[in-house]
Amino acid sequence: MSFNSLGLSAELLRAVADHGYSKPTPVQRQAIPIILEKKDILAGAQTGTGKTAGFALPLLQLLSKRSVTKVKNSVRALILTPTRELAAQVEESVAAYGKYLPLKSAVIFGGVNINPQIDKLRRGVDVLVATPGRLLDHAQQRTLNLSQVEILVVDEADRMLDMGFIRDIHRIIALLPRQRQNLMFFATFSNEIKTLAENLLNSPVLIEVASRNTASETIEQLVHPVDRIRKRELLSFLIGSKNWRQVLVFTRTKHGANKLTKQLEQDGISGGHPRQQEPGDANPDIGGLQAR
Ligand code: AMP
Repeated sequence: MSFNSLGLSAELLRAVADHGYSKPTPVQRQAIPIILEKKDILAGAQTGTGKTAGFALPLLQLLSKRSVTKVKNSVRALILTPTRELAAQVEESVAAYGKYLPLKSAVIFGGVNINPQIDKLRRGVDVLVATPGRLLDHAQQRTLNLSQVEILVVDEADRMLDMGFIRDIHRIIALLPRQRQNLMFFATFSNEIKTLAENLLNSPVLIEVASRNTASETIEQLVHPVDRIRKRELLSFLIGSKNWRQVLVFTRTKHGANKLTKQLEQDGISGGHPRQQEPGDANPDIGGLQAR
């Protein structure tokens, strides 16, 4: 299947071609037509699946097809992300995918001077990517008007909840118009995500790219059945025989972690914090454990 069959406009297909994408990823194939039908979605997709283009392309198309009278300091699409880094990345993608369309995007997050953000909002923004705290600062200072939002995207919603943004999210939702399209993305499903989805979404179409709560495909998982008292011995053997240099070991208790570290030390494997490799360092620490 090619991008041409998804119903995207020529301007967006040109931007996609500029990126060198030859075919849509599974999340793009599923999400794009549904979003273009103006439906809400709840999508389980991890980073790396192409989810950003999955929501950004149809969002840009919907905005470009509708014309509106501009209200001061208002935005038409709001994309919420948990971190500054993700906000910056997402806005970069939105700008790149929308480069042949007359739509403006901007990113706002905390920890930096608010004034350039105020200027940008005043000059007019269609797609705003933001972290919750700074977004609320702007709303309170009336440098941002959320009453015209047509599309809300909550990206990495599970991380957003883990970082304690639930109250901020509710405050933001209270500032949005009732009539809007909502797109919510998560990597790991939980009861909290379910509750948020019920509050936020209107008869959403469920899209699941990876099955619920599976590890990333790049992670290989193995189980070694072993007697309890021989667990330490097996761990030592695995680390030593496979020459693993960077190993993260989880134990149930702090006491267990200390005991295991001591036992591994007796086997010639030292634990501890990573340190910088120095020139001439024959056997540097690379991770939490160092093979001697
Ligand atoms: P994301 O999951 O949105 O963070 O995207 C992960 C990476 O996949 C980004 O570097 C995108 O540029 C890239 N990407 C997105 N869509 C496609 C596609 N259809 N074909 C190839 N790469 C893509």
